[in-house]
Amino acid sequence: MMAVQSSAGKYRISGVIELKTALHIGGGNDTSEIGSVDKSVVRDPVTREPYIPGSSLKGKLRTLLELYHYALDSSFFDDSRIRVGGNDTRHHECGEPACVVCRLFGATSGKNGRNPSNPSGEVKWNRPARLIVRDTELTDESRQLLRDADELDFFMTEVKFENSLDRITSAANPRQIERVPKGTKFRFEMIYTFWGFNPAFGERFSAVDAGREIGEDLRHLLLSFELLEGDYLGGNGSRGYGKVAFGGLKLEMRTFEAYRDGREWTCVAEAATLGEFVRNIRGQFSLDGGEREEAVGGTGGDTAACG
Ligand SMILES: [Zn+2]
Repeated sequence: MMAVQSSAGKYRISGVIELKTALHIGGGNDTSEIGSVDKSVVRDPVTREPYIPGSSLKGKLRTLLELYHYALDSSFFDDSRIRVGGNDTRHHECGEPACVVCRLFGATSGKNGRNPSNPSGEVKWNRPARLIVRDTELTDESRQLLRDADELDFFMTEVKFENSLDRITSAANPRQIERVPKGTKFRFEMIYTFWGFNPAFGERFSAVDAGREIGEDLRHLLLSFELLEGDYLGGNGSRGYGKVAFGGLKLEMRTFEAYRDGREWTCVAEAATLGEFVRNIRGQFSLDGGEREEAVGGTGGDTAACG
């Protein structure tokens, strides 16, 4: 078994996001040429298929985790720990090594926006995101279903009329919103890069410290999945859009040694539902790092947690 402190590599988290209600993720005005719809969905420019941009998914997961931490510790949004970006939008970005949100999703020093408590200065830490969130794509099954569907308004999508009434004059303000139908499934993939040392400082972690960080990161990532299932993706969530469920989940690992030696991904955990997956991961990645050697050092062929 390789020593944990020399381990570095990647985890791959993959699975399916199923739309429990219809989804609207806006594609901007430049993609609305297909019709008279007021708000169109984002589509692949070549295949014209709707998809969930990785940026939308990543942004939502980060937001949900930020609010979760704020609920437990209101100093999470103190002036010294927020950044003000375009259109004066504020979000948490402290870059502190102990901050699981900034470790997962990244923090940049001085390039984007400003820090209210230090308007002219640089943010202390530059921290590349450990997590990469790929654009999703339709599962083969959903692609076929949507292609064969006769009742859709546009290619693979439906149009929903929304209305709001002027409370004084009762004048109507109807809008047409394009949506991806409920039941549609998208394949997602995320990559989490882990290090046996901290690149920001060039210092090696102890095995326990490295294990604790990885366990904390992965468990918070799954927590953000759970929070998303209780929230919504895309627009108009308070009007019923964008309820999603995760399924067919898989966690695989490939160390840099495995890349070098031509060994493929090793399955670490697999589960049909998010609840089952979370229990599996919580069992394998204790926050004291104690069980990490097995999970990361790996026996190579031991896929007891996989089907
Ligand atoms: Zn932070």
